[in-house]
Amino acid sequence: MKIALIAHDKKKPEMVEFALAYKSVLKNHELYATGTTGLKVKEATGLPVHRFQSGPLGGDQQIGAMIASNDMDMVVFLRDPLTAQPHEPDVNALLRLSDVYRIPLATNLASAELLMHALKRGEMHWRELIHSRKDDA
Ligand code: PGA
Repeated sequence: MKIALIAHDKKKPEMVEFALAYKSVLKNHELYATGTTGLKVKEATGLPVHRFQSGPLGGDQQIGAMIASNDMDMVVFLRDPLTAQPHEPDVNALLRLSDVYRIPLATNLASAELLMHALKRGEMHWRELIHSRKDDA
């Protein structure tokens, strides 16, 4: 399963703790991330992470493009609701596309943990069905 990890600056320490805590789950999946988030997760966990541009430089849009191709299965986006972001339109676009394609999306740690538990229990297999249908089309 392809999982996108994005954290705004003040949430990066939380993302690192999250990735360490759920390393045993994340290691079974393909990880994608915006630039700096990806670097920090990679350094802390040693897991391979495909890194896009930094969020403000287009990384959110690159992940959005994967969502628009229905090629991303889950998004963990630890966003900072208390700080204005220069790339707010990109953030909104990513959240919107996740809703358009019904991609499981967590925007805070509590929801992100629920998604990890669901993954561990195999409750995301329906995403594989979507991929197999896409391949048949
Ligand atoms: P970053 O991007 O991981 O490169 O910092 C995240 C963001 O701020 O959107």
